[in-house]
Amino acid sequence: MVLNLLTPGPSIVLGHGQLLCPHCEVSDSMAGFKALRLNEKYKHDLNPVYKHSACGHVFSPGDPWIIAAYLAGELVPVEMVVSLRETVEGLHAVLAQLKLDVERRHAES
Ligand SMILES: [Zn+2]
Repeated sequence: MVLNLLTPGPSIVLGHGQLLCPHCEVSDSMAGFKALRLNEKYKHDLNPVYKHSACGHVFSPGDPWIIAAYLAGELVPVEMVVSLRETVEGLHAVLAQLKLDVERRHAES
């Protein structure tokens, strides 16, 4: 995967919301690719899988592709963004609580 980042070959990410099906090599908008359901329980261990509606080809994008798509603001499931935001907000809440505890301890001593 790292090698792919260093030696870029043809990409299925075309930009402007267009992807190339790695099987039939026909470009399509994201509406043409169906994200297959992942078991929520094991989602953190799974890669997203897409199906090209036109030809039925099922594929899982490689890491560089995911990174490129992520940077382009494309293809990242809404659930993933929401989950990440919730994690960050949760960490902020923990930090705020720790800060309050430290301040209270300082006030008591
Ligand atoms: Zn296809």
